[in-house]
Amino acid sequence: METSMLIGASFARGEEQEEKILNPRTGELILDLPEASQGQIDAAVAAATRAFAGWSATTPGERAGYLLKIADAIEADTAAFAALEALNCGKPINAVTQDEIPAIVDCYRYFAGAIRTLQGTIAGEYLPGFTSMIRRDPVGVIGSIAPWNYPLMMMAWKLAPAIAGGNTVVFKPSEQTPLTALKMARLLADILPEGVVNIVLGRGETVGNALINHPGINMISITGDIATGKKVLQAAAKSVKRTHLELGGKAPVIIYGDADIEAAVSGIRAFGFYNAGQDCTAASRIYAHKSVYDRFVADLSSAVSSIAYANDDDTSNEIGPLISTRQRDRVASFVQRAVETGHMELATGGSLPDGPGFYYQPTVVAGALQDDEIVRREVFGPVVSVTPFGDDDDVVSWANDSDYGLASSVWTKDISRAMKATAGLRYGCTWVNTHFMLCNEMPHGGLKQSGYGKDMSQYALEDYTVARHVMISHG
Ligand code: NAD
Repeated sequence: METSMLIGASFARGEEQEEKILNPRTGELILDLPEASQGQIDAAVAAATRAFAGWSATTPGERAGYLLKIADAIEADTAAFAALEALNCGKPINAVTQDEIPAIVDCYRYFAGAIRTLQGTIAGEYLPGFTSMIRRDPVGVIGSIAPWNYPLMMMAWKLAPAIAGGNTVVFKPSEQTPLTALKMARLLADILPEGVVNIVLGRGETVGNALINHPGINMISITGDIATGKKVLQAAAKSVKRTHLELGGKAPVIIYGDADIEAAVSGIRAFGFYNAGQDCTAASRIYAHKSVYDRFVADLSSAVSSIAYANDDDTSNEIGPLISTRQRDRVASFVQRAVETGHMELATGGSLPDGPGFYYQPTVVAGALQDDEIVRREVFGPVVSVTPFGDDDDVVSWANDSDYGLASSVWTKDISRAMKATAGLRYGCTWVNTHFMLCNEMPHGGLKQSGYGKDMSQYALEDYTVARHVMISHG
């Protein structure tokens, strides 16, 4: 197992406080990893700064070649990457191998192609006697900070468009899930020129804080909590850094009376609970029409109670544990407060299973009302709430009545109703009769306090490059 950070061409262990890396399935210690010192952070930023001149001068075709090599190397080592990610996050091995790694490999391949085919305004004479053209150039040194829910995938979403766009990067994984990033450090050092990607370890309040305030960093890209995003903005204000923020969600799911209930139940079972609900797009806030509410709650509860987890044979598990006892306790306290209101009922789940690991039972809370905490705040665990609505209720307004604006879905057989609801929803993504599905060609990002900045797609390349005007006088 790799334990060294990547700074320029050098591998070095951190020099500061050790962080305990735990196996969430058992609670056992995997290893202690020390975090980077200020000197090591400065060295990583300096290495990225030195590398920028050479890297930003490479052609899109050359950068595409490097990205394709990265994709091939990850793909060739799928089993080892998947095993390490499953160990560090508690994810079921099949989910990592079959869902995540192929999407990660495809992300690098997508940006290899996309950087060669950027579209834009054509050159022309917009003032008589002058030719104008647009360039898209890299921003500079990017400080990238990732969360713990999809460590390797968040790394791909951040690194691929950044380096495709000609930037260099100092990347910090979550202090809880650094293991695959350290394996990536070796892989990247073998493929990329020195300093193009640097990887430092550490906690948010120390190493993360040093990065967001670092004068040598031109742009911060972060996926995390709203509170963390606000700290990034405060830090960015001091030096007017660019920011790219992905800050969580509380996805509304509208089940109309004419929906295919079987499909909706199967969809919520899958997409409300994938990754144990530790997903910013999780189908967590359900509004079900009163005409189908009772059947929907009964069928969903029955389906959710059959979700497989905590089996010794990991290949039979559908979801894993939460990332930590802290996160599990947080999830449990949300459910407890919901039950204590007296008007909500536990349709299924709601307790801590016996045995080791940071597991929480897949849970459905029924009878939730619009102003309930469980409807308004992100639980980030295997818990969904169901709220009934009637013909007189403006359910799209209820769905929009949220601090978040990342993802949403609408379930109906009526295409007009689906299109009307879709047009009214203020979310970065709306799915119709499905949820959660992503592809590298399409943008992922939010509105409102879910942040701004797009991952994946051509729009990510726009975020990681700057449009520049060049004007040539004919005279
Ligand atoms: P977090 O905000 O606690 O941590 C995210 C990262 O930020 C970590 O690497 C952490 O070390 C770092 N960090 C924390 N405080 C910092 C500071 N003061 N300065 C600099 N860096 C700091 O979030 P988390 O608990 O790791 O992740 C869960 C959150 O991420 C959830 O809210 C979830 O919805 C969100 N998320 C959003 C998306 C999206 O695409 N919008 C995707 C995944 C996760």
